[in-house]
Amino acid sequence: SGKSFFVDLTLCTACRGCQVACKQWKKLPAEKTVNWGSYQNPRDLSSKTIRLVRFAETEAGGMLRWLFFPEQCRHCVYPPCADVNENPASVIHDEATGAVVYTDHTAKEKADTLRNNCPYDIPRTDPDTGVVSKCDMCIDRVRAGMLPACVKACPTGTMNFGDRSEMLELAEKRLAEVKKQYPEAMLIDPDMVRVIYLAAFPPESYYEYMEADASGVKPGPLTRKQLLAKLGSPIK
Ligand code: SF4
Ligand code: SF4
Ligand code: SF4
Repeated sequence: SGKSFFVDLTLCTACRGCQVACKQWKKLPAEKTVNWGSYQNPRDLSSKTIRLVRFAETEAGGMLRWLFFPEQCRHCVYPPCADVNENPASVIHDEATGAVVYTDHTAKEKADTLRNNCPYDIPRTDPDTGVVSKCDMCIDRVRAGMLPACVKACPTGTMNFGDRSEMLELAEKRLAEVKKQYPEAMLIDPDMVRVIYLAAFPPESYYEYMEADASGVKPGPLTRKQLLAKLGSPIK
């Protein structure tokens, strides 16, 4: 139940329409950027860039490829970041949609607690206010019956949004089609998250934290194994 995204990465052209639409709807300022030798811009997520189209130039499927990964909070079904806070009002887990929403109370949490407990390395702290930010599923729009801004803006059909059962069905259908061309294709953590990516190649070709159990070990109070155990078990 609740809502989910289905993101078909085989259709993404890295036009960045979704990244711009997210900034516009959330009224987030542009960031000063520098050329760091990639088309990806800016270089990382931040409190001002909560959606980022990542670029990877890598060998995948036997040839050099450019892979695109529009990244956002996955709205985990059992969000480990909601489970670690001093103040329960810091993170709201909305029952109707499943959206995981951060509030201004996050400013009072210990530095980087939320980020260290996210298996996808999503939350970012505003250096001036201490408030921790990430995608909130455009919950204001969704409650009003509209699509999230990034989904509305996507011209290629990469971004889809709707009832979770419909999105899971669409994801399985597309996976079966895409596998004919890309035998390594897979859905990324579909049972654990509400942003379900269809990747044509193994997740580490796109980005180290695309999948929760990718090999990279992230510093933090919990080991990756503990995080995974949390992802798979309901919050008390
Ligand atoms: Fe929290 Fe990270 Fe899951 Fe988003 S992806 S709900 S920030 S644990
Ligand atoms: Fe940004 Fe809204 Fe899309 Fe989240 S759902 S990435 S807040 S546009
Ligand atoms: Fe990819 Fe759609 Fe975003 Fe363009 S708008 S970068 S096609 S997800």
